[in-house]
Amino acid sequence: MELGFLIDMDGVIYKGSQVIDGAVDVINHLVRKNIPFCFITNNSQKTRRDVALKLKKMGMQVEDRHIFTCAIATARFLASQKPQGTAFVIGEGGLNLALHTNGYSITEDNPDYVVVGEGRVINFENLEKATQLVHAGAKLIATNLDSNCPIENSIRPGCGAIVRLIEEATGVKAFSVGKPSSVMMRLARKQMETTTSQTVMIGDTMYTDILGGVEMGYQTVLVLSGGTKAEEVRNYSYRPNHIIGSIADLPNLFPQVFEEPLPVRQKKSPRPLSRKRHAVLAAHAST
Ligand SMILES: [Mg+2]
Repeated sequence: MELGFLIDMDGVIYKGSQVIDGAVDVINHLVRKNIPFCFITNNSQKTRRDVALKLKKMGMQVEDRHIFTCAIATARFLASQKPQGTAFVIGEGGLNLALHTNGYSITEDNPDYVVVGEGRVINFENLEKATQLVHAGAKLIATNLDSNCPIENSIRPGCGAIVRLIEEATGVKAFSVGKPSSVMMRLARKQMETTTSQTVMIGDTMYTDILGGVEMGYQTVLVLSGGTKAEEVRNYSYRPNHIIGSIADLPNLFPQVFEEPLPVRQKKSPRPLSRKRHAVLAAHAST
């Protein structure tokens, strides 16, 4: 059965700007063999082209179609809920472009939705504006509910922390589209064009990557190269199908996907007959 891989990025193929050992070889093997895969990220800041460029610089021969962000998931979801709608956005280029591409206009004048993503564009003014718009009836959408994001040697506040501020101020609960939401997990699989039983989710975070995969019925692989330690897995009421040190161990887990095709065989000259077979033939010939 053909398999397809949904692969989280931070903590799985790189950590900050540091590529994880073995990741480039594994990803380029998937590209070379035309095996379906898609990077699935809760970071809404960048467009898929920006993400692909970052990965290409690290040596991975990926294309735009290999990237699926929570910004794209959010924009497609909103377009299906209310085509040609309007949104007030706290977020950056990746989110704005995805919304525009999916027919949305961005406005602070009575929008249908307030959409919150990652980024450094957050200030008290736009938080105040978002709060007022939700209070006036705009629906609150989170691209994800991650409390924080890893950065080199520390963390920074994530989208979830910002969303909770608006939730607290307004008493309105956000709907979140990013991992582990089935909206994003399903859209990413559809982009990869695999069935549920063909889909494998690989990630370093239990409550997003693994939970999302478990809920969808995908095979799940936890890598220990990111934010989760092996002994922490028992703290959760669900578990991944497999736990591996890093993505470099993926070929051992799925040898059928990673085995190299057999080399082209040279046409062999006929094998010399064994002595026993010679004797049998000789006996026949003499009768
Ligand atoms: Mg991660």
